[in-house]
This record gives sequence, structure tokens and C-alpha cells, in this order.
Amino acid sequence: MLFKELALSAPILRAVEEEGYTNPTPIQIQSIPAVLKGGDLLAAAQTGTGKTAGFTLPILQRLMDSKPTTTSARRQIRALILTPTRELAAQVQQSVLTYGKYTGLKSAVIFGGVGANPQINAIKNGLDILVATPGRLIDLMGQGHISLKEIEILVLDEADRMLDMGFLPDIKRILASLPKTRQNLLFSATFSSEIKALANTLLKSPALIEVARSNSTHEAITQKIHPVDKNKKQALLAHLIKANDWQQVLVFTRTKHGANKLVTQLEKDDITCMAIHGNKSQSARTKALADFKSGKITALVATDIAARGIDIDQLPHVVNYDLPNIPEDYVHRVGRTGRAGSNGVAISLVCIDELALLKDIEKLTKQTIPQEIIKGFEVDPNIGAQPIKATRQTRPQSKSKPKHPPKPQATQSKGRLKRATSR
Ligand code: AMP
Repeated sequence: MLFKELALSAPILRAVEEEGYTNPTPIQIQSIPAVLKGGDLLAAAQTGTGKTAGFTLPILQRLMDSKPTTTSARRQIRALILTPTRELAAQVQQSVLTYGKYTGLKSAVIFGGVGANPQINAIKNGLDILVATPGRLIDLMGQGHISLKEIEILVLDEADRMLDMGFLPDIKRILASLPKTRQNLLFSATFSSEIKALANTLLKSPALIEVARSNSTHEAITQKIHPVDKNKKQALLAHLIKANDWQQVLVFTRTKHGANKLVTQLEKDDITCMAIHGNKSQSARTKALADFKSGKITALVATDIAARGIDIDQLPHVVNYDLPNIPEDYVHRVGRTGRAGSNGVAISLVCIDELALLKDIEKLTKQTIPQEIIKGFEVDPNIGAQPIKATRQTRPQSKSKPKHPPKPQATQSKGRLKRATSR
């Protein structure tokens, strides 16, 4: 199928063509007509599927087609796109600017961590589309800088992550300020019961779109486990980067402290790298991402929240230095690579402490990830498992119902890490 066949007008098609895209991705083939029809939408789509253009293009079209209902001389915000993180907000806004450059529509992005004044000025000048993270939106609404009374279309992008990050009360406050009649689009990579509950309250007879099975990992991604002792992970990572001559690798750690420590160690091994996490200033995060994208640094070491939504074309390697506490985060992490048709490799360095986490991930993604022991990094069978400390990124409900009880001893057999007893 061609973009030309999708009932988008010439100014939008021209911008799409300039990006070099002729064929819509599977999600775009489904979402563009569904959004153009004007109904609500529930889409199971991971980043990397082309979902941003999947909602941006038809929103631009609908705003071009509809006349603002207000008589006010100033443009009023008619489409609101909410994202969980600053990085994702900035990327979505970039897509709105790219695809909307010939439409005459105006847009802005607001998020925390940077001064509010330029954002307030952009809003004062009048906007059609606002991309926002919930916290800054609520702040500026509270100060009377933003009115959402004319909203026609609402998008919740990466809604699962917004709930994981505790944004539900903020989302509810924002929803209460919107007109009752509007189009709602909800995008989520995974479908927990909380997401289903939100969808039930928010969406009216939504069109359902599922491109990759929810909670599944991308087919273009080769996944592999390297069993290794915890104290040898750093040496193994440095070995993999050097021996395979990796030029661009996104590395995930469980904690901010772990990210900083790993950067210091990799630098000692002459691997150029930077960390990106919530304790870094917005400008440091922006610089780290820009240097990583441009190839100035080889490794970007990130925590889950900071890396959420990072869009890097053709990122070849993702490494789980630590496995995530939340199995859905594994899906999000490996989804950074193998995007929009390119192939990627996702490698997890798994020590004996992480076997329960691995089991949860394999259960969620309905697969057994192949394991390969790297010569010189064989697991010492005399090392026992230690409990993993809880972090802020552990699911809140796991307080009442522990997801990962203390682990039993594990043994290694035939190159595959195995738990001695099952849970
Ligand atoms: P997203 O899932 O929205 O994060 O998009 C992932 C990547 O796919 C982005 O780098 C987009 O620029 C790219 N992309 C979006 N639509 C297409 C398309 N129709 N053909 C090729 N690449 C695309």
C-alpha cells in the first residue's frame, strides 16, 4: 500500500515523501483510516512500529479539515498529546513539526526540567496542537496559561508507562478539564488490567488495533542471554563491545547509581559513553542523546524511565546489563532496536540473582531466549544467589504481593542457567 492511497491531503503527503517514506507501516495502514473516521482508538503498539506517524498524520488531517469552533481570534489548542517522558514529548513534537510543516498548523511541546517561560510564550501565541508531559501541563493549567476547553482530539501515548510512572491521578485531573465530546486515542505497548480499566472509562466503542501481539517482542530482533557472574558483567560488556566492534549500543541498568558506576568503568576501558537517567539535568540528557545519535559516543547507559521512547533509527545493539524488575520493561527495552524494518540484537547479561526475573520475562513474552556462554566468562557454580534490592522502578503493587520472592539456589547445566527448585 502507498501513503497516497490513505486519504491524506497534499501538504501532508509532501512532508511524508520528503522523509523518504512511501509505504505506511502495518499500524499506519490501520490507524490512519480509523482516526480519520473520527472514532476512538485503542492501539497495542510498541515504539518502533511507526505509531507516532500513525496518529500524527490523521490528526493533522482532521485539524486541517475542521474549522475551529471558537470565534476567538487566537488559535485554541484542539489536539492534546500526552506522553510519559520529556524525551518522548520532544520526539513526538518533532514528528508533528516534520509532518505538519506544510499544513499551517501550529504546535508546541511542554515538559518539566526546563524553564517554563518559553513554553508559556509559545502557548500565548496560539496553538492547534500541544504535546505535553502531565506534570508540566497541570502546572501551567493551574497558573491559568492553558485552556483545554476546545480540545477535539486527545492522545495518550505509551499509556502503560504513564500508569507505571504514577501519572493516573494527573491524567484524571487533565481528563476532567476536557470537553466531554472529543476523540480519544490510547496507545500502549502492553495491556495490564490497569490499562484495560483506563480504556473502559475513557474510550467509546473504540476501533481496536494490534500490530504485534501485545507483550511480544519484535521479530526483527535477535535476542540472546549471556549467563555471567555479577562481578564479571562489566568486563564481559567491554569484551563484547570491543571484540564485535560495536559502534552504537544502548545499555540498560536497573539503577541510576548502577548507570553512573558502569560509565566510570567503561571509560577506564576506553569505551566512550555517557549515562542518561532522572538525576541528570535536562540539558545533560539532551546532550548525551545527541552525542549517542551522532556517533560521538559508543555506549549510552540508561535507566528504564530515561530511555523510554528514545527513538534512534536503526539502533543495532541493546544490552540489558541488569534485567528489569518489571517484565514488561524487557519488551520496551528490546523494542529500542530492530525498529521500522531494520534488524537488531538484544543481549541480556544474566547472573544467578536474576533467574526469577528471566523466568517472568520468558513467561510474558512466551519464548525461551537462547543462551550462550562466552569463553572466559563461564559462570562459577559455587556462587549462590543474592536477593535483588527493590528500586523505585519496582511495580507499586508488588509491595503487597511480592513478585520475586527470595530466590532458591541455582545450578548451571548444559550451558543453561537453571534454578534448582521451581517457585
Ligand atoms: P515510532 O514507532 O513512531 O517511534 O517510529 C519508529 C521509526 O520509524 C521512526 O524513526 C520513524 O521515523 C520511522 N517511520 C515511521 N513511519 C515510517 C514509514 N512509513 N516507513 C519507514 N519508516 C517509518
